[in-house]
Amino acid sequence: MSPEPVIAIDRVNHYYGKGHLRKQILFEVTANIYPGEIVFMTGPSGSGKTTLLTLIGALRSTQEGSLQVLGRELRNAPSRELVKVRRDVGYIFQAHNLLHSLTARQNVQMALDLHPEIPSAVVYERSCEVLKNVGLGDHIHQYPHNLSGGQKQRVAIARALVSQPKIVLADEPTAALDKQSGRDVVEIMQRLAKQQGCTILIVTHDNRILDVADRVINMEDGHLTALDAVPA
Ligand code: ADP
Ligand code: MG
Repeated sequence: MSPEPVIAIDRVNHYYGKGHLRKQILFEVTANIYPGEIVFMTGPSGSGKTTLLTLIGALRSTQEGSLQVLGRELRNAPSRELVKVRRDVGYIFQAHNLLHSLTARQNVQMALDLHPEIPSAVVYERSCEVLKNVGLGDHIHQYPHNLSGGQKQRVAIARALVSQPKIVLADEPTAALDKQSGRDVVEIMQRLAKQQGCTILIVTHDNRILDVADRVINMEDGHLTALDAVPA
């Protein structure tokens, strides 16, 4: 008995551009990702990894095929459905995307703006708590320019995890980091994921960290080859 996948991708095609400029980027991409898995996606630059990640995160509309995230079909979904999916997903970008005028805590707290149901005292406390969890207990009130690259990326992780998302999508989170900081960052993600029971999909070129993965899938020219990428 296998559990329902949290992410079910079935023959997804994606195109950019219109008319004669229209270009196919993803080809019949098919994969299932199961609860609690840590899956890494590798593949050359320009192969379509970020495109797929933004489709899964409901940041872009699914054009062809079927994409189900947490049991919701994203193709042809109304925008309020997409907003619900975004609320259940934590996103970590390559560049940490912190706001420079906000402290670490304020950056983390922003992620809870999508959750008006959480009282503000809880928001404050939880933001501090998750920063402690990523080892930044002494830097809660620092501004990003006072933090190292690895520390900034840890703030970004804290921001992605503070809402206790069911899925975390990370796009080359260690690209700008040295070897040790890169490892620390994925190990923190792994630990917090296990604690919170969330599923993680990490895009990476970094083969120094692949051993953290439960499973590795590979994107090449818009084709996903993977253990469970069932041919259509
Ligand atoms: P990767 O993350 O693997 O480097 P991307 O998904 O970013 O790949 O890009 C895949 C292809 O789609 C590339 O050829 C890129 O130039 C093109 N592309 C990405 N985003 C856009 C866009 N918004 N408009 C047009 N083409 C794009
Ligand atoms: Mg990319």
